[in-house]
Amino acid sequence: MTALLATTGAPEPAAVQFDPPLSASSLACPSFHRFMHYSRIFYHQQRYTNGGPLVHQLERRLADWHGVRSCVATSSGFWTLVLAAQALAIPGRPEVVIPSLTYRRLADAMHLAGLVPHFCEVERDSLAATPATISPHLNDRTGLILGIHPIVGNCDAPGIVRLGQTAGVPVLFDSVESAFATVDGRRVGSFPDAECFSLHASKLLNGFEGGYVTTDNEQLAQQLREARAFGMWEYDQTNRLGTNAKMNEMHAAMALANLDEVGALLLHNRRIFDTYQQHLEGIAGLRLLQPEAGELDGFKAVVVALEPSWPLPMDVTQQQLHDHGVLSRTYYSPALHTKQYSYPVVAETLPVTESLQDRFSLLPCGSRVTRHQVLQVCALLRTMGAGHV
Ligand SMILES: *Cc1c(COP(=O)(O)O)cnc(C)c1O
Repeated sequence: MTALLATTGAPEPAAVQFDPPLSASSLACPSFHRFMHYSRIFYHQQRYTNGGPLVHQLERRLADWHGVRSCVATSSGFWTLVLAAQALAIPGRPEVVIPSLTYRRLADAMHLAGLVPHFCEVERDSLAATPATISPHLNDRTGLILGIHPIVGNCDAPGIVRLGQTAGVPVLFDSVESAFATVDGRRVGSFPDAECFSLHASKLLNGFEGGYVTTDNEQLAQQLREARAFGMWEYDQTNRLGTNAKMNEMHAAMALANLDEVGALLLHNRRIFDTYQQHLEGIAGLRLLQPEAGELDGFKAVVVALEPSWPLPMDVTQQQLHDHGVLSRTYYSPALHTKQYSYPVVAETLPVTESLQDRFSLLPCGSRVTRHQVLQVCALLRTMGAGHV
């Protein structure tokens, strides 16, 4: 075993114990000075929330980045999805088609938007829903298609947009995982009808909490500005159904400071990914998911698939990693259509999704992980794969 490790130049794995534990979250941390620079602006103006100067600045810069007319910032990615789905869905047509293999809370968001989630398959290679997997589920009750970018790589956004246009059904994208990506060379965030993003601390752009919608539809943007602020559309008018999903100025200050420094984070993420790529190679049974070649990508998540030749079940793999202070997590498990719900859903058997749902694990990455730690994690995985842990 020592000889094997010597060839990788990696430290002795049995001794690896990460303390504090290694996180699989991004947790970007801008310079304090920069955060304070932005924070002083709202503090001195005493504009804390309700569309202050920093939220406006953030919305302008994000709209420019994504190459889209309007950006509407909110308190979270989750509420962004609820409000945008509510605004876009065709009235009187209650179903929304969404992939089952996805982020855990998406069915709940669609239910809170007043819609019935109707689950569809993903394609085995991309782990994304495609026009071919979505269209069998379209019917005269379909009011919305939710296109979702997978955790690594992208969905066929142009194809899904064309499908929606042909079927006469609006399309909303959950683009949280592809915030700094392109599809066919076009910036994610610029596809119709609208796209949703998160600014949670674990995502690429950290605003502590927060979310935003991008759209070229200014009427929709205006509707969302009203919806996030108690449904008010004129001063002190409250005639419409509303909620409080506004972004506050301090969160915008954090997001702006991180946006200034995002270039460095993208480079760091790329180097971490490349290090995994190099050092996971040759470990039988682990396959690193690859972002789309030839496109921009944020390299935010590092995800491995456990293949049949990997000797350990998923739960044992997770337990052994946790025992060494590696906070890995499963992703895509359980598939949404296999869960019990207290609200209506349309769930059929989805064999591809069922065969994929327990195979993916997030590995440590993000702003705080070093390349040296990645080498240690890879050495640990190599030892686990050889049955020596
Ligand atoms: C995190 C996440 C969300 C929710 O965003 P919050 O800001 O945490 O509410 C939605 N969709 C996906 C794909 C996510 O990863």
